[in-house]
Formats: sequence, C-alpha cells, structure tokens
Amino acid sequence: MYSKILIANRGEIAVRIIRACREMGIKTVAVYSTVDRESLHVGLADETICIGPAAASESYLKIPAIISAAEVSGADAIHPGYGFLSEDSAFAEKCVASNIDFIGPKHSIIKMMGDKIGGRQAAQNAGVPTIPGTKGALNNKREALEASEKIGFPLIIKAKAGGGGKGMRVVYSKSNFLKSFDLAKLEGEAAFGNGDVFIEKYLQNPRHIEVQVLGDKFNNYIHLGERDCSLQRRHQKIIEESPASNLPDKVREKMWSASIRLIQDIGYDSAGTIEFLVDDQYNFYFIEMNTRLQVEHPITEIITGIDLVKEQIKISAGEKLGITQQDVNFNNHAIECRINAESPTNFMPSPGKIIRYREPGGFGVRVDSGVYQGYDVVPYYDSLLAKLICFGKDRNEARIRMLRALDEYQIDGIETIIPLQYRILSSLYYEEGKIHTGLVESLLKEI
Ligand code: ADP
Repeated sequence: MYSKILIANRGEIAVRIIRACREMGIKTVAVYSTVDRESLHVGLADETICIGPAAASESYLKIPAIISAAEVSGADAIHPGYGFLSEDSAFAEKCVASNIDFIGPKHSIIKMMGDKIGGRQAAQNAGVPTIPGTKGALNNKREALEASEKIGFPLIIKAKAGGGGKGMRVVYSKSNFLKSFDLAKLEGEAAFGNGDVFIEKYLQNPRHIEVQVLGDKFNNYIHLGERDCSLQRRHQKIIEESPASNLPDKVREKMWSASIRLIQDIGYDSAGTIEFLVDDQYNFYFIEMNTRLQVEHPITEIITGIDLVKEQIKISAGEKLGITQQDVNFNNHAIECRINAESPTNFMPSPGKIIRYREPGGFGVRVDSGVYQGYDVVPYYDSLLAKLICFGKDRNEARIRMLRALDEYQIDGIETIIPLQYRILSSLYYEEGKIHTGLVESLLKEI
C-alpha cells in the first residue's frame, strides 16, 4: 500500500480524498494555487505545496509542476480527482514514466475513452447499444450533409474531444445544419484543440442513467448499480439519485450487464462510469464512459456502503477487489444536490465571501464540502462548493429529508442554486419520478 498520496485537485473532492487517505493511514500532500492558500484541502493535508498562480493552466493543469511536487514530497501516487487532469492520458503516462502511480485506469484506456468516437467504437465492439450516428469524425461538409440526411432531425453535433457539457450543438432542421457544423468544428478547435466532430440522433427528453463500475488488475469486474442524473441545466447535472426510479428491473439489469461486458472487453482497472441515455420505451444507449471518480459518487457509496475512493486506491496499489458481485447489496435511496455558487435563475457564477455558513445535519444527511464561514469563493474554477447527500428508506423519505436539509443549509454572501433545487424537489414531477433531461429547463420556464 502507498505511504503518501499527492492530490492533484482542490475543493470538496480534494477534501474527500484526504479523508479516505487518513482512514487508510496514508499521508497526504495537497497542491494549491496562490489564491487557494486558505482552502479547506490545504488546511487538512499533511503537507502542502504551492504549484503556481490562479489560472488553472499555470497550476492545477500544469503537469511539470505537479510531477515535481510529487517528486519533492516523495509521494508514491497521485490521485487526480475529477476534472483538471483526471482524464488526461498524457498526464497518466507522465506519472508512470516518473515512477509515480496514477490512481486511475491504464493511460491507453483513458485515451480511448476520452475520445467520444473511440468510446462509441469500444461500446459497439462489446455489443453495447449506441445512439444511431456516424461511425467516425466527419471530414467535410458533403459527408456531413449526407450523414445528417441519413440520421434525420433533430440531431446533435458533438466534438470528439468534448466534455463537461461543452462541445455539443443540437440542430432541428436541415437549413441550419451546415452553419452549425462549421461552428461546432470551430468550437471544438477553440475549446479542446480538436475540431473533429460526429453526429448522433438527438433523443427528445431522454433520461440520463449511468452505471458505476469497478475493475481490478486481476480481471475482476463488478457494478455498483445505477444513478439517475437526468436533472441538468445546460447538459450539466445538478441533482442525482440512486437507484433510478420508474425503471423496470429487467432494463436495469440489462444496463448493468452491458456495463460489465464493456469493462471486461477493454480490461478496465479502476472505478469508472458508463453513461447511457434512456428513451421513453426504455431503450438504452451508451453515450460515453468516464474513466475517473464521478462528482455524484457519494450516492452510490450511501446505497452500497462501499467507499469508492478507498477501492480506487487499493486497486491502483495492486490489491485484488475484495468484493464480489454477490457481496454488493443495495439499501435505501440516496439523492445528491450539487451546491453551486451560481444564480438560481440565470446560472451566472457568484463568487465572493461566504459571510455566514451553516451546514445541515442529522440522520441521513452527508455534506461533502470544500468551504467554510469566511471563505472567499474565487472565480477561477468551477462553481461547485459542496455536495449535499441525503438518504431515506425509500425515495420519498430521501426527498423530504433533502427538502428539510436544503432549507437548513445557510450560505450567505453569495448566491447558490439551492432555491432552484428546492423548487425541483418539491414539484409533482419529481415526486412522481417523472424526470428527464428537459425537466429543469421546462420548470425554469414555468417559474
Ligand atoms: P459531456 O461529456 O459533455 O458530459 P455527454 O455526452 O455525457 O457530454 O452528454 C451530456 C448530456 O447531454 C446528456 O446527459 C444529455 O442530457 C445530453 N445529450 C448528449 N447526447 C444526447 C443525445 N444524442 N440526445 C439527447 N441528449 C443528449
């Protein structure tokens, strides 16, 4: 087992990883940018190293600075968390070349799955259904136009290297297609340094349901059930739950076994997530695989009792999975709200000082937070402050507890999306489990 891990991240996820390391008796090294000097993760780690100025490209994304911080501190492994370098195969490769373990899958798998076209291909090879679409990147307008006619409208143009809800364009009619195609290529180039795009059929108001998987280096593969992450704004999740409600068990089980088939096929050796869209006939289609810890992993931990960060670390250190599929039991129902420092109406970031902070608590409530009273929320990184996770013996108890906890959560000085989440969870649509990826937008219109 490792004796020291460097956490190449910040905020709540860095705190989450430090906590797991503490419980495992592993020393931790926090890295931070100059504006994060007063961050919670810096205060909690055993050692701290400043790696550069505020801009992520000069600090949390700066591979040489992070590798040398690991070398100087004598860390045996780097945990990348999510975002930043977590899906950068060149970083994973550099870690290995520097004799430092990267806590995640093999870099060849990160590379294959980080490319949405490569991911689709891998899913198809494993017999996992994908959304009807083009096989590879589209080379020119003529090819694109032909493909669009074959697939039909509405369709979605996706950047091969896209992520985080960015690099996608929905096109409703042929007349807008070529213009959107050009724009999507330009956007892909500007945001991800790669202008390759492909197209998929655009499903109307599907559900986003994903399966959590674990694989080790000894060909053991298990799943930890699914999460419904349909509540999104601008393709980014804001409320998640596990298990998915209103999903026939037969479909659920098929999604689990498709996920296992895929990770077996590629020899996956870490924690990962297979994302699917599900239509109103319960057909499910692979959209992508995330080869890292997911923001919403706590709801899976709650219903399975399995600590995903510890499992990731143990697998990376070369231990065999200590759990078989038969050992995994699902209990209770869990919901997570992402507490983002954003306006609840127009989602503009809301940085600033938190002048008063009181977290909810009590039975069935977990808060994974990266902030505290007096903390200055900086504008340089994503707006996630904390995650509020509640569970109950069934969905409605979890929902009511979440409403109670949201009500109790006091964050003054900045705006958060708590009022919107309260509104969604108290709607009849949510209560009856009638959720889909278009629900948040339509509720916003109603408001
Ligand atoms: P990212 O990697 O940017 O997170 P994803 O491929 O995971 O992108 O998609 C994010 C969200 O975008 C999905 O959860 C869904 O709401 C929407 N989406 C993506 N592809 C489609 C599609 N073909 N039809 C309808 N919605 C889609």
